[in-house]
Amino acid sequence: MRRVPAMMLAYCMSLLTVAASAAADGASQVHALIKAYPDFLDRIDGNDLVWKDGTRMSVDDKKGAKDFESLLEKPDIKDQFAMSYPLGRPAAGPPQPNFDPGRVRYMPLFDKMYGDCTKGETLPKLVEITWLPKKNGEKLKITAVNGVAERLAAVSRELDELSDEFVKFLKPTSGTYNCRVIAGTDRISAHGHGIAIDINSDQSDYWMWTKPDSNGLYPYRNRVPYEIAEIFEKYGFIWGGKWYHYDTMHFEYRPELLLR
Ligand SMILES: [Zn+2]
Repeated sequence: MRRVPAMMLAYCMSLLTVAASAAADGASQVHALIKAYPDFLDRIDGNDLVWKDGTRMSVDDKKGAKDFESLLEKPDIKDQFAMSYPLGRPAAGPPQPNFDPGRVRYMPLFDKMYGDCTKGETLPKLVEITWLPKKNGEKLKITAVNGVAERLAAVSRELDELSDEFVKFLKPTSGTYNCRVIAGTDRISAHGHGIAIDINSDQSDYWMWTKPDSNGLYPYRNRVPYEIAEIFEKYGFIWGGKWYHYDTMHFEYRPELLLR
């Protein structure tokens, strides 16, 4: 057996340590998926996310760092955690350019849990809830998978207790389930999975409704009070008002991004 010089050995060990700690960081983020979706997901095994039915999906596609467009268009599972969703009240100032935590979605993961709406798989999983029953609200369809409907009903009950000044933001809603692509893309929206709700669009702002400024940046706009977003976040829904490409009416069930 060849003897390895001590210095070389120490160098190799330090590389191993760096690799191990990087892998541990990625694993802990991806591990949030196991906690967030216990009905479906079992464990992380090496580079695989293992489902309870034995399905395996690669966590890292080994394609290296991706630019912003590639993150949206062709992400892998770990890329969903590339931007950390900020908890709590937004810090002063608008989100940094292209900071859109939650807009990166690995579609096979969501299609497998909620169904592919283009194949008619999502509709049978939807149930009806009454939105803001004390305020004469409407019926909404939302998926029963992962307890999303129960959680949205819990959000609704808390929103129902807010004072009247909040009502105009909450009703009428601008819809929940809708098997459609995201404007300007060919990617199916979270609305197609039955996990999203748009509150009143008349009181909301959307980056696509504005023009970029002279520097090519979209000026941030929002009218929705954070009290509303805070209630959604409590039940696992993220808010599009925390994105650079803001969509302040939009909430979607993404508990993996809220776990710390
Ligand atoms: Zn939406």
